[in-house]
Amino acid sequence: MAGILLIENEIGIKIVTTHFSPGSIGNDLTTRFDVINIIVHETLSHGLDHLNQKKYDYHDPKVFWSWEKRAVHKQVNHWSWSKTSSNVKQIIFDVYARKNYVMTKTEQYKYFGKYDIH
Ligand SMILES: [Zn+2]
Repeated sequence: MAGILLIENEIGIKIVTTHFSPGSIGNDLTTRFDVINIIVHETLSHGLDHLNQKKYDYHDPKVFWSWEKRAVHKQVNHWSWSKTSSNVKQIIFDVYARKNYVMTKTEQYKYFGKYDIH
């Protein structure tokens, strides 16, 4: 769906931006609020973690999931979450939030509602 892109410009300034896979906008992401919310996850959370040189290792589940947990909590607490489509909420729930080490049951109900949790 999306990921971050780390670039260094010609004077050595690191830039972090969100990369969307072909087809993700219009299929997975249907409104501008979906796009904004994914940018919050990718750039504002993962991107800032990279710029702050937090240790990253996707082979280490503990490190990987601590990155995802921060990103998911940031996006569900962003103003765009209430306007994000249920399609995107379902994807975020299925991939991350349904795991009890990412969100408690109480948080799952708060942010995803009963209808999104199957
Ligand atoms: Zn992520």
